[in-house]
Amino acid sequence: MVAGCGRRSTQVDHIIPLKVRPDLGLVRANLRGICGTCNARKGARMTAPPPIPPPPTTQPRRPWVL
Ligand SMILES: [Zn+2]
Repeated sequence: MVAGCGRRSTQVDHIIPLKVRPDLGLVRANLRGICGTCNARKGARMTAPPPIPPPPTTQPRRPWVL
């Protein structure tokens, strides 16, 4: 639950921004749950970056050369 609004927390918020203390990015004491609405209202982008899309599976088709 989010302390401010009571909604379910769906995102992770860094109490101390990663930009300030990147070494605390995985420290549990620096993490708290936050809902998307509150996080958007905060304005800062403190959530985890979006997952990296898989590489395209377009392998070069080489003709069979014997
Ligand atoms: Zn909220």
